[in-house]
Amino acid sequence: MRLSIGLLIATLAAGTQNSPPAGSGEILAQLSNIHLDKKQTYNIRDITLRRDALSIALNRGTIAFLEPIMGKVTGAVFIGSGEVVAIPPDAVEKQQVFKFTGSPVLNEPFQAAFFRFTDGTYEEIMKEYAQHAAEDVSEEEAAQFLPWEQIVRDRSDVMKYRILADFLEPSSEPLFLSDLRGEKTGWFEVLYDPRLVEEVAIVKFHDSGLGSVADLWASFNRRSEVRNPEAVAHENKSAIDVLSYDIDATISDVQLDAQATMRLKAVRAGARVLSFDISRFLRVSSVTLDSGDPVPFYQHDENTLTVILQRATEPGQEITLRLSYSGEAIAKRGSSMFYVGDRGPWYPSPGNQDGATFNLTFHYPAAYTLVATGSELREWDEAGRRHSTWKSDGEFPIAGFNLGDFKIVADEAPPLPIYVCVNSDVGAENLLKDLRATINYFSGLFGPYPYSRLTVSPFPLSYPQTWPALVGLQSESQFLVTELARTHELAHQWFGNQVGWSSYRDQWIAEGFAHYAGAMYMENKYPDTTRFREILDEARARLLEQGADGSIWLGHRLASTVTPDGYTQTLPNKGTWVVHMLRMLMREDGAPDPDAGFLKMVREFLEAYRGKLASTWDLKRIAEKYMTSSMDVREDKKLDWFFDEWVFGTGIPTYTLDYQVMPAQSGFVVQGTIKQSEVANHFIMSVPVYADDDFLGRVVIGDEDGTFRFNVKTRPARVVLDPKGTVLMKTNAG
Ligand SMILES: [Zn+2]
Repeated sequence: MRLSIGLLIATLAAGTQNSPPAGSGEILAQLSNIHLDKKQTYNIRDITLRRDALSIALNRGTIAFLEPIMGKVTGAVFIGSGEVVAIPPDAVEKQQVFKFTGSPVLNEPFQAAFFRFTDGTYEEIMKEYAQHAAEDVSEEEAAQFLPWEQIVRDRSDVMKYRILADFLEPSSEPLFLSDLRGEKTGWFEVLYDPRLVEEVAIVKFHDSGLGSVADLWASFNRRSEVRNPEAVAHENKSAIDVLSYDIDATISDVQLDAQATMRLKAVRAGARVLSFDISRFLRVSSVTLDSGDPVPFYQHDENTLTVILQRATEPGQEITLRLSYSGEAIAKRGSSMFYVGDRGPWYPSPGNQDGATFNLTFHYPAAYTLVATGSELREWDEAGRRHSTWKSDGEFPIAGFNLGDFKIVADEAPPLPIYVCVNSDVGAENLLKDLRATINYFSGLFGPYPYSRLTVSPFPLSYPQTWPALVGLQSESQFLVTELARTHELAHQWFGNQVGWSSYRDQWIAEGFAHYAGAMYMENKYPDTTRFREILDEARARLLEQGADGSIWLGHRLASTVTPDGYTQTLPNKGTWVVHMLRMLMREDGAPDPDAGFLKMVREFLEAYRGKLASTWDLKRIAEKYMTSSMDVREDKKLDWFFDEWVFGTGIPTYTLDYQVMPAQSGFVVQGTIKQSEVANHFIMSVPVYADDDFLGRVVIGDEDGTFRFNVKTRPARVVLDPKGTVLMKTNAG
């Protein structure tokens, strides 16, 4: 959201080089230079602005509007007493608001507000004002706004391009943003923007050493959509779909000079303002259409590029944009290890998971080896440099590359050639063998590896990175990192790349399945050891640490200034347990393949959403096809209970077991009660009970205690709950 002065100057300079379409340059210039309107200051009281779930009461105070732009007032400053109320529509968002404010409902008095809007806020306030006689604004009251002249100008960039879009696009969906100075919380923002997938947001920006960090207190769908979240799980409000990229890139040390040709298809009518993510280290020097006509563009807000089309889009219309850009977008480690992805996107990306085809051509020092996503078509030396071309297998959600002073060892056995970039041959053969074994194992479980080759290369990042067909692992010399980390990354080729996630809320599916696939690999490779158990125990231990109790449906929002490690601590670990519990609930012990049902479900999911984006509901629907009778704890053939508790909800139960063993006519009777605690009342789970090593049966435990009575032949030494660890619980009651 914030813009540095240097960037701003560069942006304006870049803009004036082109001839902006009628109106847009003039509007932008006015938006960049906004002022309070001295003639439009009023004393107001008892005006309530309602925008969907947001209610802002201006109880008593003075409001000063901004000067109109093209006849339209786009903002105001209010000084006085007011109150904002927002009631989040679901338990997950209420929990979030509680996490940041100490109350599940936002109800915060404020003493100042800065509004930006393209809706009828001005007209609404003036209508109310006209109906209630109010005192004239005194000199003292007017003087309160003097310091605001500068603040307003400093903040003119906030939402500038968003507001421009409403001026330029006829079917505008107006914005309402309010920055409020809360009594307890300091400044925070409430937003209603119908152009966002989640239209309502409450956010607080914190200044960190590196810039502004946003805590999203709440983000949710507008009222008309909240009743049926499944119906909007695939909502996509992008105006365009990127079909393909042709990128020609020259690499000299950390410098990247590139030309990118993007073919776009308009999804909706009337769009003119298109935004892309691109690294702030890259400066765009030109954007043109196929015809060669220049297209005005602006780089702003850290990593954003906005281009403005001369004419509004028609649905289905194809547009080609050619961009030239350059800058130090490549990160370097040591003297000879280079990689992209760590300094922001190296090509203009629409910022979603939607795939595009990529044709990449690279020019780089002949001393280096370059690997990229996809398949290498050609590599040649010419004019003292090396060159190579790479092509995606169909659509990829992302493309990347790295290069360095390494050599490639290969196992080119069909059908899948595997390439590994190494600094030395030591261990390379074993690594190739391990990679082959992992791919074979996963292909057997999940279906064929989705791409035509696999490249594994060292990325000197603090986290591993999996791109389609190219896996980066942290260390340049120590490839193995850990076997689990490596297999987890390889599994992302199926979970995350073959099938992407629809919304950030669905990313847990990729993380949960990839991590659990890694665990299954370990279980298979080391069958008579505790390795598999240790992975699950470790995941449970991480979940029981402080700050790890968020809903995995929050995705990246689990990380915040309150819980900086919330994402890494919670998402893969809870995701792993969710997948483990699904597998264990579907398991048929004693069958030739006890996991047949679970694996069929996983394969159906991967096949149904190949090359697409899946939502949590898509997974649920397929899981319901394979649910066993013991999973039907609500007797409705649905898994709502399971997803409500373990995916959307939070909480890890504790179970307390009480039992007696009594002699009976033939053998013994084991009877007892299981109590559940530390979770909400609606929580329900089916938990297996064992007598020594013998499985007795499953007992359903909810807000009503689970009771059981089993007949056994011999007197058991002990009766235990879930000794094999199939249910995520705090303590094992046995
Ligand atoms: Zn992962």
